[in-house]
Amino acid sequence: RELTVDLGERSYPIYIGHGILAQAGELFVKHGIGKGSPLLIVTDEHVAKRHLSKVSDTLEKTGYSTVSYTVAAGERSKSLRVLEEVVTAALQAGLDRKSTVIALGGGVVGDLAGFVAASYMRGIRFVQIPTTILAHDSSVGGKVAVNHPLAKNIIGAFHQPEMVLYDTSTLQTLPDREVRAGLAEMVKHGLIWDAEFTTWLEENAQKLVSLDAAALEHGLYQGCKVKSIVVSQDEKENGLRAILNLGHTIGHALEAVAQYNELLHGEAISIGMMGSAKLAVKLGYSEHIYTATKRILQAFGLPTRLPAHLDTDAIMSAMMHDKKFSEGNMVFIVPTAIGKVEINKNVSAAWVRDVVDELKQEA
Ligand code: NAD
Ligand code: ZN
Repeated sequence: RELTVDLGERSYPIYIGHGILAQAGELFVKHGIGKGSPLLIVTDEHVAKRHLSKVSDTLEKTGYSTVSYTVAAGERSKSLRVLEEVVTAALQAGLDRKSTVIALGGGVVGDLAGFVAASYMRGIRFVQIPTTILAHDSSVGGKVAVNHPLAKNIIGAFHQPEMVLYDTSTLQTLPDREVRAGLAEMVKHGLIWDAEFTTWLEENAQKLVSLDAAALEHGLYQGCKVKSIVVSQDEKENGLRAILNLGHTIGHALEAVAQYNELLHGEAISIGMMGSAKLAVKLGYSEHIYTATKRILQAFGLPTRLPAHLDTDAIMSAMMHDKKFSEGNMVFIVPTAIGKVEINKNVSAAWVRDVVDELKQEA
């Protein structure tokens, strides 16, 4: 399966398929990645153990010279310190302006390696090889970043990859909890854009959770498609692209208050999407939005209740520090029907606080 992210001269393909990494060499050649300069593969320890040799072997066999750098698994590797380490590795390996960085891993590696590529020698090329379900979201769209201790994703750039190579066979080694969390972003893509896809997701939840190959390929294809349509229309988030933040205002706050170790990103987003659905009902939209959202998330075994020990004040103040906050009102992505959302700039903080408290009582 193939998709194109349409961005004029920065357009690029997304290849999705079981076992397509075997064709990585050919695809690199096809997309004009030269053999004269070394390629740097950035990955993390969990992915290196399972999938690194597959990637480096096929590329070496095609005549590329590769080096790899493996970071610790987890969000903490999205830091300036690790960025410097990767750049050191790039310099030692002799990467030049014509070199390409390969991000082999989940969203953490994609964001980190992408930002290395965006900043090394003022920008070199990069290729995304996502290995988590969540990364169907993060590998498309060109947002790359590392974190600052005071704020997530605050040091970053827009830097589009040359291509995305999604080998669904790599997903078979993902832990179950990561599978479900990644599927939360797939549900998000349905909820913001495509009612039919959302229905399909609910009907195929069991297949997706158990990593059925055909279901995964279809779900990832549709999810990437929604993401690329939205990004094509608003690459730098001047408007429409904000809809991709459904569930993220509350979700990011929960991740932060839970100190990035209790809730996975997708789990926090799941609770956040429940919050948006509750807000929708408060704003006068159909109660069906709330019941359907909850039913779908539960079909994936995703959390719908906010852990009661997370302090409401702390959650509210974390939201105030979020980037999506303007002039006293909170900006929220609110579903107006299943498959449709609006960007609502007038959500009062008091309503959001009520929603947070109500989410703690959720069944
Ligand atoms: P992750 O990269 O930390 O991967 C999750 C875990 O799975 C890690 O422990 C990793 O080592 C392991 N793993 C990865 N692939 C594996 C495989 N095939 N088999 C076994 N284990 C594997 O996290 P993630 O959920 O993929 O991504 C989360 C990050 O993505 C966050 O930092 C978030 O901010 C970012 N993100 C970015 C965007 C964007 O547009 N740039 C969008 C959404 C999320
Ligand atoms: Zn997200």
